[in-house]
Amino acid sequence: FDHQFKQALPIIDKIEEAGFEAYFVGGSVRDTLLNKPINDVDIATSAKPNEIKEIFPKTIDVGIEHGTVMVLWKDASYEITTFRTESTYQDFRRPDTVEFVRSLKEDLKRRDFTINALAMDRDGKIIDYFNGQKDLENNLIKAVGIPEERFFEDALRMMRGVRFVSQLNFSMDSETEAAIHKNHPLLEKIAVERIQVEFVKLLLGSGRKQGLELFIRTNLFYYCPGLKDSKKELEEFAKLDCVIENRIVAWVLLIHYLNKTSDDVELFLRAWKCSKKEINQVKLAMIALEHRLKNNFNRQILYQTGLQVSLDVETVMECLGYPIDFETVHKLYQELPIYSKNDMKIDGNDLQVVLNRKPGKWLGDLMTEIEATILSGELPNEKPIIVEWVSTHYTKDA
Ligand code: ATP
Ligand code: MG
Repeated sequence: FDHQFKQALPIIDKIEEAGFEAYFVGGSVRDTLLNKPINDVDIATSAKPNEIKEIFPKTIDVGIEHGTVMVLWKDASYEITTFRTESTYQDFRRPDTVEFVRSLKEDLKRRDFTINALAMDRDGKIIDYFNGQKDLENNLIKAVGIPEERFFEDALRMMRGVRFVSQLNFSMDSETEAAIHKNHPLLEKIAVERIQVEFVKLLLGSGRKQGLELFIRTNLFYYCPGLKDSKKELEEFAKLDCVIENRIVAWVLLIHYLNKTSDDVELFLRAWKCSKKEINQVKLAMIALEHRLKNNFNRQILYQTGLQVSLDVETVMECLGYPIDFETVHKLYQELPIYSKNDMKIDGNDLQVVLNRKPGKWLGDLMTEIEATILSGELPNEKPIIVEWVSTHYTKDA
């Protein structure tokens, strides 16, 4: 029994003492059987949300309309979801309303893949109505029930399927694959944000090659932002043989293979609904990569890119098969005289006083020039010296 399950046992016991059923379900059961570390422990129960709230003193309503209550218990939190079916599907998306049921089997039946439709009771006994354990042994992603129906109910499951192929390094059952191939246009109905979550997990998985090949073979890529016309490039990208360690590295490698210009990068990532912060990081990384493919890192590029993203760029270089040197990046970065404008020992007010001039465009330009000169090492970052430099230098230019 994993430590996290042990910690959650009192929760199951309390629900059972109140006269209801409760089981561990979903990813945690699957990952335990695979001897993998588990993320979060999810619990399914025959108790309704209000019944759960009566049992536990501390709860948070995280998705009560879907039957999910979060229970806070000894520094940890658990999502407890009432057994449910999703009988009325519309628009190929998960329904807004759900129907609560009292049977575990009904609940497991509406889950996406057999390996995700396993439950475990408080004694560690596995409940397996859909041969999930056999598929786990055979490393197989197989839809619960009739694949096509399941993808009609919720088209996101097609992306989840290829994601699990990559994440678990599994293969896909042929009938399940055929159903995705046939119904791939249904993906168009799904919110990009939800597709992105699965796509990024696909890119970060250890079986990325298999996952991407399946993603291409089933034509799922066709309904993902900015990929429609890039089958050839995606195929090349799929051949790449390295573990991708984070989201920035993933996007940069993908964009590199797609041959996007720096103008395209923003549009591409916006279409994928990436956050502003992530878009900025990837843009900086692309500029740094372009430089890095021709030269080593220098102070300016490092300063502009920041340490973390620079290291990501170095990781990208490694994936692309170039010789790399993380230590030099660290060392160069440590030697930078400043890390941002805030570190400069002079500010706009000082400059206005020194030059006795009203603020204007000149001020920003001058700050930028001083910044670059400090960065290059030509000007020490000390106020009197900067003032001296400005008074001689600036009058000359003006
Ligand atoms: P991860 O380790 O990435 O969290 P997971 O299997 O726990 O994987 P979740 O998205 O956390 O994935 O979902 C938890 C469980 O809920 C799944 O194991 C599956 O049983 C069920 N589930 C999630 N999304 C769907 C879906 N779109 N259709 C059907 N069942 C789903
Ligand atoms: Mg999970």
